Amino acid sequence: MTHSGLLLQNKYTAHKVTYPRTLAEAIPTYGDPEKAHAFVVALRWPSGVACPRHGCGSANVHFIATRKTWRCNDCKRQFSAKVGTIFEESPLGYDKWLLAIWLITNAKNGISSCEIARSLNVTQKTAWFMLHRIRAAMKSGTFEKLAGPVEADETFVGGIFKSMNNKRKARVGRAWSERGKVAVMGIVQRSTEDHKGKVRAFVVPFIEGGVLKGAIRKHVMAGAEVHTDGWKGYKGLDSDEAYIHHVIDHAYEYVRGNVHTNSIESFFSVLKRTIKGTYIAPRPQHLQRYIEEQVHRFNEREKTDGERFPVVVKQADGVRLTYKKLTGKD
Ligand SMILES: [Zn+2]
Repeated sequence: MTHSGLLLQNKYTAHKVTYPRTLAEAIPTYGDPEKAHAFVVALRWPSGVACPRHGCGSANVHFIATRKTWRCNDCKRQFSAKVGTIFEESPLGYDKWLLAIWLITNAKNGISSCEIARSLNVTQKTAWFMLHRIRAAMKSGTFEKLAGPVEADETFVGGIFKSMNNKRKARVGRAWSERGKVAVMGIVQRSTEDHKGKVRAFVVPFIEGGVLKGAIRKHVMAGAEVHTDGWKGYKGLDSDEAYIHHVIDHAYEYVRGNVHTNSIESFFSVLKRTIKGTYIAPRPQHLQRYIEEQVHRFNEREKTDGERFPVVVKQADGVRLTYKKLTGKD
């Protein structure tokens, strides 16, 4: 995907918009409300604006320039480019939204709501809400199973369990919730020369066999090579030849030939650094979104800053996260 220099144009605006490659290029484009609007419209509707109302989709629409809205000539409804996206009902302009997306997408270790608040001159509460909506859009909609070889592992986020041997896991594994810890499982496809492996990671209720093996069956192609540590939760992965299971027992060794879990562990270490260093102590109910943020950056790591950004803007379409839902006051 190369966007540099690609011209975005639409008939509703005089502005020609190109994909910025750096923050310095992004600010004049996204910082201008008119240009930012043109950019979002061109990304959302590359082949022309269509009515987003469910069951309509008509392209027979006309633009009301003064209000930056369209009116559908078929169903007679009015809509803006924000309808049906993470931006819906937000009083903030695209100038602030796009810069926020740029900043979080390209910050290796995440970015705090305080920093966004200062950079964009919004309140911290607003920044916090914006970031969570953007994280919701960072979540990939891909459900394609990972091909082997993969590595699977689990970890505890939010505290003292830096490393645990199996005895310790067995002792505290069930008690994590009482101690404010959250168990996270990760599965990564190993990279090859021409293919950068993708990761999946998610909060799990327990680190017991049913949960872990169920997740592997859901996310990994049957018959694939699966590398894990010696945790008993993974025992039986190779029964019925469902998977080729390679075990590295961390009590004795960390690498044996190509048997190891180093790729997933390095993902976890970046995740933990982001959560501890930048987000300090996110509430467990929000943790999955912080994980999605890190998964997104990992899976898009081959792209440049300018290329990562429109992926999130495109995925903003069809994602809603209301303040009520976010704060559990629904
Ligand atoms: Zn319509």
